[in-house]
Amino acid sequence: MKDTTCNACMGSWPRQDHLITDLGLSKVYLHDDQFFPGWTVVVFQRHATELFQLASTERFQLIEEVNRVAMTLAEVYQARKMNYELLGNQVPHIHWHVIPRLADDPAAMEPVWRVPHRSVLLSGSVLQNTIDRLAHALRMIG
Ligand SMILES: [Zn+2]
Repeated sequence: MKDTTCNACMGSWPRQDHLITDLGLSKVYLHDDQFFPGWTVVVFQRHATELFQLASTERFQLIEEVNRVAMTLAEVYQARKMNYELLGNQVPHIHWHVIPRLADDPAAMEPVWRVPHRSVLLSGSVLQNTIDRLAHALRMIG
């Protein structure tokens, strides 16, 4: 079921040209802002706002999909630590921010939201190459 008032259900967020792959219960997108390289968003494919609204089998599969993304990003970006954020305050539709935190992270002790920075927006071949690289890695590692 889609909620017509929900940006995630209606496909206006995340940007459709940032789609990396479809894992089954979720779709994986490269986050608009790549200040933290590899920042990815895993979006549940139907409308739900809370984990407890899912059947336990869905929850299990969904966390496996999030885990698959995290393992892939950790390897591709040689992450020192992975961050997982399931908030939904701005877009109340289940989605995880999965963020590799790298050795040269400017604020390794802070959540990304607390780090003031200019957004790094990828476009053209740089965007496409990043998406292709992650889609390929997800097929290999997952
Ligand atoms: Zn929704």
